[in-house]
Amino acid sequence: MPSTVSTSFESSESQSSQSAPIPLHDFLSTHDDQHFVWDDADRETSPEWLTAVDAAGLNAKKHKVFNHGGKAYLTPPDPFVQIKELGDSGSTIVYKVTAPETSAYRRALALKVIVCKESSRPPGPDSKARSDALKEVKTMSELRHPHIVAYVASFEDCCIQPREIRQRAPRPRQRPHNMVAFRVNQRIKKHILGIAMYPPAQCNLRVFMEEVCQAPEDVWERQHLYTYFGCLSQAVAYLHRQSIQIRHKDIKPDNIVIDEFGLPVLTDFGLSRHFETGKASEGPTPKTLKYAGPEAIYEAPRDHHSDIFSLGCVFLEMATVLLGHPTEFAEEQLSINTLDSADARSISSSGTGTNTEFKYCDVLRNLDAYLDILTLLAHPALGASVKGVLAVLPHIRRMMDPVQTRRPDADQLYPLFRHLYDIHDKPGPCFNCEEERRTGNALPSRSGNGSPTLSRGVDGVGSNGSQGLARRSTAASTMSTAMSMVAGRNSLS
Ligand SMILES: [Zn+2]
Repeated sequence: MPSTVSTSFESSESQSSQSAPIPLHDFLSTHDDQHFVWDDADRETSPEWLTAVDAAGLNAKKHKVFNHGGKAYLTPPDPFVQIKELGDSGSTIVYKVTAPETSAYRRALALKVIVCKESSRPPGPDSKARSDALKEVKTMSELRHPHIVAYVASFEDCCIQPREIRQRAPRPRQRPHNMVAFRVNQRIKKHILGIAMYPPAQCNLRVFMEEVCQAPEDVWERQHLYTYFGCLSQAVAYLHRQSIQIRHKDIKPDNIVIDEFGLPVLTDFGLSRHFETGKASEGPTPKTLKYAGPEAIYEAPRDHHSDIFSLGCVFLEMATVLLGHPTEFAEEQLSINTLDSADARSISSSGTGTNTEFKYCDVLRNLDAYLDILTLLAHPALGASVKGVLAVLPHIRRMMDPVQTRRPDADQLYPLFRHLYDIHDKPGPCFNCEEERRTGNALPSRSGNGSPTLSRGVDGVGSNGSQGLARRSTAASTMSTAMSMVAGRNSLS
């Protein structure tokens, strides 16, 4: 397939700066995402496929429906070129992609490719699974926050997957108990949805915490982890805003990625879950109940406070790591003496999971004791960093309250964790989150010239221009090196 890319990039930026990573805030404030436009090659034009795209309100220049050319299974479509696979889970694969040098738009992106399973057959153009997924893409495309992954473009295609199956043959009379099977080659049509997003991840928070756990206090990653409490609080507060009102429903370390600049970015808004199963998922999948509140386990009504519970669990793991223990330490300590509890029995009998799977909501009765253990083991004489983390434990406790209404609202969280930015001089307070706290806007309302507010300069608030970026990039390359140690076990969502 020829690489005919008709993207337009009306900018004086050089090719190299277009392909260089920039902080998400700058990406959003310069509207970098708008510079990518699909070409018209192989574009679907039949109304039956395009009506749902229209109905979802998606921009056809941003969402391309391929004319079902039977492209190779789960590979990035033209003009994207795969740099590497970032992770996969089930029927979802995330690639880091870029475009060839001949393309006008060359920013490296994350491309998530999802296979839609609707009764094991590709959905028709007017299927509900498809229209629901398109609506979610539309919702995601409107989110603009420096700690929430940014939509760039999306596509749909029917691809052909060759597969070999075993088929049962008629039983020979003389061997009635032996099944005879033979292999058949099949070509299966699958409907796939792809979403190109910025930024591509260096790793996810789970992997990041594993690194930090083994790192001394002065290591770059550890110093950044202190700042993630505030930044992630602002990301969730943005989602819960009156004007947006989105519940993430599956906040967990795997759904928080760390970008090239060490900034935490919330990703995966339930889209893949939804699209894969073909039904509106109301909550986390059984595999991700670990971070779900008791209301999810008991299938009670849930509201935005369910996100707060999950975020509280993530914060508990972050605090555990910053106090010098691996995240498994929290699981071990919290699990002590819970197996025989009535709660555990009733949960395991509810059929939502086995009692061997660790879930935070199963062990809430031990939470106070665990926080006491953390406090006892961490001698406050060790310094400001330990005191700073100990000071947030009661807030995490409230976030993980079994009663939804007793948990704080997302917009109350930032001040509770604000002091953690000051523990280390670098990276210092997050310029964007501070701006959001002061003005209510994390992004300038209009596109400015260049990058007036590079996020989080190394000197703290508001380092200016390219110097800050260059210095941050150096730090980022340090992180890339560290992260290459754990390459191969990254599992990104
Ligand atoms: Zn921030």
